[in-house]
Amino acid sequence: MTLAEKLVSLRAEIARLAPDREVTLVAVTKGHPVTVAQAAYAEGLRILGENYAQDLVAKVPDLPDDVQWHFIGRLQRNKVKSLAAHVALWESVDRPSLVREIAKRAPGASVLIQPNLSGDPTKGGCPRDETAALVADAREQGLEVRGLMGVGIFGDRDRTAEAFGWLVATADRLELPVRSIGMTDDLDLALRAGSTMVRVGRSLFGERPPAPPRDQ
Ligand SMILES: *Cc1c(COP(=O)(O)O)cnc(C)c1O
Repeated sequence: MTLAEKLVSLRAEIARLAPDREVTLVAVTKGHPVTVAQAAYAEGLRILGENYAQDLVAKVPDLPDDVQWHFIGRLQRNKVKSLAAHVALWESVDRPSLVREIAKRAPGASVLIQPNLSGDPTKGGCPRDETAALVADAREQGLEVRGLMGVGIFGDRDRTAEAFGWLVATADRLELPVRSIGMTDDLDLALRAGSTMVRVGRSLFGERPPAPPRDQ
């Protein structure tokens, strides 16, 4: 299938599982060369997701200015400065020190707060019960909190469904419109739970070449 055909089928799947709402598609080009991002752009995709700061910064000059870059990966505070001019939505904000750094380097920036859905401390995200406080903190620092972002639990669809349900209920309670949940493997669960933003890589662009271990 060509990228255009994959997009048609992905959009049909989204419309089928979320017929009642608009769902924003973030095309996750992480791990792929810039030519893949350019091909996505050529198909009309304007929101691209990257999870390594260096890769995002490296791709920016080779794409038109109207790309909206979403940062979706674990973020080190010392990378915020280099990203500040480029990122349209910081999706993985998970601690007060990061809130402060983004507020300093990109005042008023749009962010999502990421709770850790799995409870695994080696994964990104704030503890679930600190989500509301971090939302309040980010607002106090002048950031535009648009919603919550979550990553499902690898290989466990039951726990992922529970976690997505919790994220959507929490976003409702905090009156946050954006619920960024759903990747290639758990798209259906996320859309059924109430996702308004999906972040899709593999089902559009295929498997990623193995990434060398490195600093984020
Ligand atoms: C890699 C990644 C995605 C996309 O995952 P696919 O399985 O390729 O669809 C989405 N969100 C985050 C945070 C990611 O790291």
